[in-house]
Amino acid sequence: MKVLVPVKRVLDYNLKVRVKSDGSGVDLSNLKMSINPFCEIAIEEAVRMREGGGGHAKDAANEVIAVSIGPEQCQETIRNALAIGADRGILVKAEGEIEPLAVAKLLKAIVDTEKPDLVILGKQAIDDDNNATGQMLAALLDWPQATFASKIVLHGDKASVTREVDGGLQTIDVALPAIITTDLRLNEPRYASLPNIMKAKKKPIDVKTPAELGVDIAPRLKVVKTAEPPKRQGGAKVKTAAELVGKLKEAGVF
Ligand code: AMP
Repeated sequence: MKVLVPVKRVLDYNLKVRVKSDGSGVDLSNLKMSINPFCEIAIEEAVRMREGGGGHAKDAANEVIAVSIGPEQCQETIRNALAIGADRGILVKAEGEIEPLAVAKLLKAIVDTEKPDLVILGKQAIDDDNNATGQMLAALLDWPQATFASKIVLHGDKASVTREVDGGLQTIDVALPAIITTDLRLNEPRYASLPNIMKAKKKPIDVKTPAELGVDIAPRLKVVKTAEPPKRQGGAKVKTAAELVGKLKEAGVF
């Protein structure tokens, strides 16, 4: 089974986001960029399908391909995925803001040539929090989708996926080929070891362009304004429960 994993390069999750002074967007200059955490979980799951682990039989997958869409520096994101254990990478070189629909169209073009049995994406990229690409790709391919996965069990030509939904957990069966998106509790990604980081340097990365894939990536959306969240109002400490009840009454909670 071939597994394709799209991995996005985003601002490192430990960093605080700063809004540009003119409100036109987020300032990314000179900041550390990393693999999107949900994409890291997706790669880990795909690699476990190949190596055995996390409930998967060894060789449940025989090839794991990491694909990233964005500037040249996305090579680093792909190398990160290769160090976790992906076999090869594909970089679709594109500058500027690439919207989820454009990403989904590019991924569809890659799926059409690579013909994977499974595409595992992150449920969302932590930069724009779109939570849209997996669903759009499923629609474009007309494939079944299982989003927010916290457990995946492969059996034959089906995957049983436990999904994190508002009321708890829901398990659904999807026929392969299918789209799965990962939630936080699916697995804990490994730290890539130094030998694997070295090995990853030798793994192949194919470079493509949107034009070669026949996809128009012109933006359809316009960002009207980007603003910092409102500052929190100062809190107050109370000494007794009675005082707390008084404050809550004052605030109209009771
Ligand atoms: P989003 O819909 O933007 O929240 O992203 C959801 C998932 O789609 C991510 O976790 C990735 O797996 C994939 N994805 C989105 N944008 C890209 C990109 N530029 N390159 C590769 N994968 C992407």
